[in-house]
Amino acid sequence: MAYVIDGKCIECGKCEKECPKGAIYPSCGQYVVIKRMCINCGRCAKVCPVGAPKPKE
Ligand code: SF4
Ligand code: SF4
Repeated sequence: MAYVIDGKCIECGKCEKECPKGAIYPSCGQYVVIKRMCINCGRCAKVCPVGAPKPKE
């Protein structure tokens, strides 16, 4: 399992700063999670103002 950022992302960059694994980066108009680096801590979801990161199988 890993977190996935959906299309609601407004590119505020908060999740990138918060991720303890450096698994988030900006790409093509939104931020994305590198699946194999994500440890499912949920910090990105907690700081996101629009609820874009969600846990996915
Ligand atoms: S769940 Fe944690 S490790 Fe995974 S992308 Fe979000 S902040 Fe990073
Ligand atoms: S915190 Fe939310 S809105 Fe901000 S860059 Fe991350 S996913 Fe996008």
